[in-house]
Amino acid sequence: MGLRVIIVGVPGVGKSTIVSKVVSSISGARLANFGTIMLEVGKARRLIRDRDEIRKLPVVKQRQLQKVVASRIARMKDSVVVVDTHLFIKTPEGFWPGLPFEVVRAMNPTHLVLVEATPEEILMRRTSDASRYRDATTIESLAEELGLAKSFLAASSSVTGAPVSFVRNSQGKADEAAMRLVKVLEAASR
Ligand code: ATP
Ligand code: AMP
Ligand code: MG
Repeated sequence: MGLRVIIVGVPGVGKSTIVSKVVSSISGARLANFGTIMLEVGKARRLIRDRDEIRKLPVVKQRQLQKVVASRIARMKDSVVVVDTHLFIKTPEGFWPGLPFEVVRAMNPTHLVLVEATPEEILMRRTSDASRYRDATTIESLAEELGLAKSFLAASSSVTGAPVSFVRNSQGKADEAAMRLVKVLEAASR
């Protein structure tokens, strides 16, 4: 059976940094960055030009893109598929699930992994990453989002039956976090 691992965590926690290291170290592993595919589809439909515009679209439009992306990922048949995505999206209409029932069931994950860091670390990473337009935030609201993430994660695990692991991405230690994620995948493929 193939591995289909969904990696989640709040914006700026370091998912893409870790996942790219992991995928390049496992032969046959395929990276599916949900946001990158959403951007491709959204650009083709002339809805957006940048990945940080996606979450500002009306939720009905985001839902259409989300469904298309989930079904594309569902068709990936590689032996290891690592999906880099979000448990929830902070939209102007409220916190919206990144993995609602039909989306997470379509992608059919074998494992779920939450990348974690402290609110202070996440805030620093968001502020210092000039390549993205992440929303300004405070330590207090980040702490709330980290709590919210656990609720959304429990829902995804219950719906899919996939086990949950936690990978801590400490400051300056992305390589170590990537190694811990590789260990989770190794245990999963035994
Ligand atoms: P998003 O959900 O918005 O795509 P992300 O979780 O994928 O965010 P990254 O883009 O991987 O986050 O990382 C955000 C910033 O934090 C980047 O500038 C990255 O270089 C930096 N970063 C990632 N991990 C660490 C770490 N362990 N220590 C210091 N900086 C880090
Ligand atoms: P990322 O680079 O991971 O931040 O992805 C870019 C954008 O894609 C995010 O800010 C969201 O707007 C969108 N996105 C990513 N994953 C999902 C998802 N599972 N559901 C809905 N939107 C998503
Ligand atoms: Mg990312």
